[in-house]
Amino acid sequence: MGGSFNPIHTGHLFLAEQARVCFQLQEVIFMPTGQPGYPKAELPVDSVYRMEMTLLAINDHPHFSLSSHEAEQDQPTFTIHTLKTFRKKYPSQTHELFFITGADAVRDILQWKEPEELLHLSQFIAGSRPQYALKEFKELMEQWPLAKTRIHFMQIPLLEISSRLIRDYLRQGKSIRYLVPASVEDYIYKHQLYSCERSVGQTS
Ligand code: NAP
Repeated sequence: MGGSFNPIHTGHLFLAEQARVCFQLQEVIFMPTGQPGYPKAELPVDSVYRMEMTLLAINDHPHFSLSSHEAEQDQPTFTIHTLKTFRKKYPSQTHELFFITGADAVRDILQWKEPEELLHLSQFIAGSRPQYALKEFKELMEQWPLAKTRIHFMQIPLLEISSRLIRDYLRQGKSIRYLVPASVEDYIYKHQLYSCERSVGQTS
């Protein structure tokens, strides 16, 4: 499960759980991005914070784990390098890999490094918000036969929540209670991430 997780929220956790059950996954490994090797509109907070928030969010789930593989790289990371490393640890003879991430990210997969090889190394699960334009996604599938069998689309109601929405709420002093796990909410306030101001009613 790759993403900036800036911050991790209930939508990510729900997607991971739905994917785990639907695709009968043994384990879901959460992997916060390090320094992205591709352009980003807004730089995420330091990966140390994002790693710690992710760990707090998943540590009560027996089939969820955390990888520091991308976060600890001192060079920009690309998914192709990550998947090649994972394939060494989880060979195709014994393991099937699924890279879970957002559909908005997967829609641009043809612009990622070595797209054809990406789909040979791993299947993809693209989680989307309900209002997401499926049309573009279907067009991609039609142009690229390999995508039809290797990219799976999952619509997740709780993905109405987005990291951007949470960052905006924090900047506006609104409550983010129930959008993220309580431990993550506390962590954000404690470290004063996203220029947050504690909302009215928050006591500790
Ligand atoms: P992002 O720009 O932070 O997010 C793009 C969209 O996808 C947002 O709507 C985001 O929602 C959603 N999203 C991201 N990760 C998600 C997840 N795990 N589950 C559900 N929705 C998710 O994208 P990013 O985090 O940088 O990239 C996502 C993944 O794709 C990362 O692992 C990244 O390394 C990989 N990627 C690789 C390349 C490449 O190799 N060239 C290029 C782009 C992306 P939220 O903000 O709510 O998360």
